[in-house]
Amino acid sequence: MADYLYPLHIAPIKEGVLQISDDGEVMAIFNNRSDVPQEKLEVFEGILCPGFVNAHCHLELSHMLGKLPKHTGLPNFIAKIPEQRVLETSKMKLAIERADAMMYKGGIVGVGDISNTSDSFFVKEKSTIKYHTFVEVFATNSEKAVEVFHFGQSIINKAPKPCSLVPHATYSVSEKLFSLLKSHNSGEPICIHNQETKSEDELFKKGSGDLYGFLKNFGKLYTSGKSALVTALSQMPKQINILLVHNTFTSKEDIAWSIKNKYSTYWCTCPKANLYIEDTLPDYSIFDSDKLCVGTDSLASNDSLSILEELKVIQENSDFDLNTLLKIACKNGAEALEFSTLGTFEKGKIPGVNLIDNLELKKVIL
Ligand SMILES: [Zn+2]
Repeated sequence: MADYLYPLHIAPIKEGVLQISDDGEVMAIFNNRSDVPQEKLEVFEGILCPGFVNAHCHLELSHMLGKLPKHTGLPNFIAKIPEQRVLETSKMKLAIERADAMMYKGGIVGVGDISNTSDSFFVKEKSTIKYHTFVEVFATNSEKAVEVFHFGQSIINKAPKPCSLVPHATYSVSEKLFSLLKSHNSGEPICIHNQETKSEDELFKKGSGDLYGFLKNFGKLYTSGKSALVTALSQMPKQINILLVHNTFTSKEDIAWSIKNKYSTYWCTCPKANLYIEDTLPDYSIFDSDKLCVGTDSLASNDSLSILEELKVIQENSDFDLNTLLKIACKNGAEALEFSTLGTFEKGKIPGVNLIDNLELKKVIL
């Protein structure tokens, strides 16, 4: 038991007691500590919540810690990734192993992880953390769509399950490639980087702006006259969970459109990466907090892979109470990624248990 128990499928319980089996399965929750034999009680100071779900990460970029300059904006950031990506295999593998261990130590039990290659598969296969692998493809040039799609298929055939084949971002995937990906999907959740930079909407609405200027060197771009989000969702299936990542420049109208058109969208924020690359954060007040989840993004744009640190940034920049913050960190990400045993202290789940005795977060509940 702890000062407060945050089961997340029900309201927080002051001095609540969590009963778990030796295998970590939730057996019961008690509202009152006097209902439990005293000799069986372990008492903790602080709060107890389920293990965290990091809804967006790129394990395979873990060796890029500190390699890219801050606040340069998305086009400059993307341009620099290829030159830093290449590294001796043994060093890269070590960085990936360390990143996986760093996440586990930080209370993370489930991860939605992007793979452009098979570099991180060896860790995901043996990790204590549950991974959903998103094999991500991109090519703005529609003539490359089939080749890139086949390459993606060759990677996903080697990927540990569960996994999905997904588009990188609206601006980096041609209509042809979007349609190949849509026909490949058989119900598994997908993700896409969305509205991370201001000029993304300008590209699709007007065919101009910083991102347009950078990308036109790689092939012909299409303009839809609509926002990046509407452009992307219109090319995706409706019956599946779609994890939209970043959403820094998403508008209320975009969100309303996705609801009206019955897309099952989850909004994943990566605040520290947003501050690193663009020095901007989303307006958290416009999102349905039951559909918000959180990711660390990669060590190319973050100095740690800590959900608690991300929560602190969200807390400072929103009106969310602690229960809502923890739902964002655990329950909502587990739902989006369909990790059915993670995310809450519901009976029968094996969600991991985090004890938070951090002073800054404690302030919220006192
Ligand atoms: Zn990302």
